Amino acid sequence: MSSRVEEIVRRRVLTEVEKYPVFRRAAVALSGGKDSGSLLHVFTESYPDKEVIPIHLNLGIGGFSEASERFARMQAERAGLHLVVFNLERELGFTILDARRIYPKVCSVCGCFKRYLLNRIAFELDADIVLTAHHLEDFLVRMFKSVLNAGFEELARFKTYLPKNGNLVAKGRPFCRVPERMIAEYALLKGIPFLSEKCPIGRKVNIERFRKTIEILARRQSQKLLYFSSLTKLAEMLQNCGAITIQELKPCSSCGFLASGETCSFCTRVRKIKAFLERGQASSSPNTR
Ligand SMILES: [Zn+2]
Repeated sequence: MSSRVEEIVRRRVLTEVEKYPVFRRAAVALSGGKDSGSLLHVFTESYPDKEVIPIHLNLGIGGFSEASERFARMQAERAGLHLVVFNLERELGFTILDARRIYPKVCSVCGCFKRYLLNRIAFELDADIVLTAHHLEDFLVRMFKSVLNAGFEELARFKTYLPKNGNLVAKGRPFCRVPERMIAEYALLKGIPFLSEKCPIGRKVNIERFRKTIEILARRQSQKLLYFSSLTKLAEMLQNCGAITIQELKPCSSCGFLASGETCSFCTRVRKIKAFLERGQASSSPNTR
């Protein structure tokens, strides 16, 4: 017999996924944590007819990355699926810890690498969609920050589903209306193995402040959903009013994947990190660019 939480999580995921155009093969980003582990579980249980490819990115953050990969393997095995692992050091010759020597604010590099690599791997595996486990609070934090910091372009670009665009695979976030607490409960109910340790190099002080503010403002879960709907409507209005120009994308001069600049930010950063490491200037003054 399924619990109330299980029913809500499943229903909200189904409601989101049913909005997407029909797809056959889904790549699921699997970090080894509770959110993506739960997403893989609920998705494979709800859609046994879909092809699912779990993808794990090992970014080389010491023991944390090793443990993350171990848990991602357990989660994939439990679902009877083969895990695709991309090991940054093996494939590109450096880790995120190396990247931090040239980019002290490495979280943005990490985010850029994850977005780029997930898309590239999914594209190469002929996946129709990439599913990520961003939850309700992830979206609320991002949208609140955009509004309060006048990041209207960022807010206007906000979408819970992004359709395929050339070599950019469609992106779906089926947990966008599911609060984190419910996902944690789902993971425990289903006995999903997951790593609870947080990234040791993440400096997310600002995000935590926004997160706490949202918790104070929304004393009930329904209020969070109301804020989410209001901010989504605002994002749509911004898109439709013509005040925001959406940048045109063109193929990156180096890798060919669509990007807003001449060379995409992934290729630019990889080139810079490799050059820095090759010069052996590990102890020279950092360039934050
Ligand atoms: Zn590129």
